[in-house]
Amino acid sequence: MDEKSLKIDKQALSEENLLEWDKVQENLKINLGSQIYSSWLKNISLLKEYNHYVILGVQTRFFRDWITSRYADKILDEIKKHKISINRLEFQIQEDKVDSQTIYPQTFENNVTDIKESVLNYNRLNPNLNFDNFVLGESNKLAYLSAKKICTQLSRYNPLFIYGGVGLGKTHLINSIGLKLKEDNNVMFISAERFMYQFIKSIKKNEMVKFKDFFRKANVFIIDDIQFIRGKEGLQEEFFHTFNSLFDKSSQIIISSDRAPNKLDRVQDRIKSRLSGGLVVDIGNPDYELKLKILKKKINEFENSFKEYPNLNESVIDFLAKDTNSNIRELIGVFNRIVAFSKMSKKQLSVNDCKIILKDVYKNSKITTIEKIQNVTSNFYSISLEEMLSQRRSRPLARPRQIAMYLAKKLTTRSLPEIGRKFSNRDHTTVIHAVKTIEKLSLNNEEIKKNVEEIKSIILSD
Ligand code: ADP
Ligand code: MG
Repeated sequence: MDEKSLKIDKQALSEENLLEWDKVQENLKINLGSQIYSSWLKNISLLKEYNHYVILGVQTRFFRDWITSRYADKILDEIKKHKISINRLEFQIQEDKVDSQTIYPQTFENNVTDIKESVLNYNRLNPNLNFDNFVLGESNKLAYLSAKKICTQLSRYNPLFIYGGVGLGKTHLINSIGLKLKEDNNVMFISAERFMYQFIKSIKKNEMVKFKDFFRKANVFIIDDIQFIRGKEGLQEEFFHTFNSLFDKSSQIIISSDRAPNKLDRVQDRIKSRLSGGLVVDIGNPDYELKLKILKKKINEFENSFKEYPNLNESVIDFLAKDTNSNIRELIGVFNRIVAFSKMSKKQLSVNDCKIILKDVYKNSKITTIEKIQNVTSNFYSISLEEMLSQRRSRPLARPRQIAMYLAKKLTTRSLPEIGRKFSNRDHTTVIHAVKTIEKLSLNNEEIKKNVEEIKSIILSD
């Protein structure tokens, strides 16, 4: 034993503090279910235990990758319940212990192959994500033009690597390439995650030869979300070989990723260099114009399918394009929500209505704060903030106070107790009472109703 390992061994704990691994296992089985347990966790052994970490034995790399990506947090949480000082897991692969029974547990099939994998299932191109309905803007123009170019000049730029944040249209774009090319080519479209499912399944069934043939016969190979391979050595190995053999026979390779090739940490350097060896383009955040165009397009689609105009005025559309600084997926989500509300309430929504509907998208800070509500309300009634927050119960103070509490509930995402605290530590039941009182008064007291609306629009106006 060398000096270093001796040192580590000294940290190992004395008998009485040892983690009861059986108990941890038992609880994992209860919490995660016996299927997952017997497929993945049952055969994990506790190899060594130190003050702050444990070394767990797993049978193969694939097991390690799978367990780390899916269950490591849960295992660590469970261990911590038994021994709080542990804050890290390490895995050691014990390939020599493996026999054919244990590499691939019996229930594996049920868990993984639920996703029916057939040749047809790979090419799950979505017909709705095509070039025709991809809206162009500054942020995605280059990626779009590159994608189009690929379709006319196969293998000239190889691979095409498109990267960008979530919901910006990467899948849409590479799916469009697939649709366009599949007329004349053997197109394979798969996410990196599914590639892994298939990979593991093939090993299990002893069908690696088939797997290799299958993926290598494509002359257009599109793989989505390549960042999934980060930290998964076995998968990277296989991907590297698949990539090389496709590349060698000049198949067009198209890849999407949430980050640039050189930012793919925990990916082998040789893979990163392959990935950046062709054309690398990014998709950026959409600007106002692009968001506006997308909204107009959505309105158009809505009209075509429902034969009615979604009841949105220009200022609302403008607000959605300007103030929701979201990605495109979120923008579409926000649009659908507003349209649904407008249909339900059968009225034309104002920008303020939208702000209220979207308050959780906005988070409280964005729409407004309790402080602001208090200031505006006390100003409106020409009383001081101290008076409004005081314990005095005279109506000229109590009514504005109740209105402010009511608005705090309606315009922020703060909970009732939080609101109570901000009103000189009042109880949440007081807040409920205020909300109910103002709701009731608004129904039959025109003046209160008018004042509440006015205060609300002052609060929301900037
Ligand atoms: P990513 O793969 O980058 O996370 P997606 O391609 O899944 O994003 O896009 C998210 C949603 O936004 C999809 O519904 C997609 O159709 C839509 N979308 C994204 N960009 C555009 C665009 N330029 N034109 C039209 N729809 C778009
Ligand atoms: Mg995607």
